[in-house]
Amino acid sequence: MPKNNSKRDDYERRKQSRLHKLGTNNPRCAVCGNSDWRVIEEHHPDTRKRDRLVVLLCSNHHRLVTYDQKEHPSEPQQADQTLASIGNFLLGLADMLALILERLYEYGEALIARSGDVAHLNGGRK
Ligand SMILES: [Zn+2]
Repeated sequence: MPKNNSKRDDYERRKQSRLHKLGTNNPRCAVCGNSDWRVIEEHHPDTRKRDRLVVLLCSNHHRLVTYDQKEHPSEPQQADQTLASIGNFLLGLADMLALILERLYEYGEALIARSGDVAHLNGGRK
């Protein structure tokens, strides 16, 4: 947080502007829960910037799922736009769920690993 008033005002103005653009005062990454407004970005799961549906992601997760979107099949030249949009949305959603799945395994394994420590602190009580 900047120390002098001018920089603090500028910081607060940028923060409020960003929160307004994100549409919430409490932005969070849908994958990891990061809530630092400076790194939260809007992601378009169906790859089309004009689509209204956005998911908030931190910069790292936004980059990962955007990279995965580049691996999606390309649309035929004369594609039905509705079907193509739904298909891209489903693939984009699957990309995010894959990241969330990795996180679920990581958290589950960490909890099981720590459960022995907690049992020890509780005097071996179950
Ligand atoms: Zn994240």
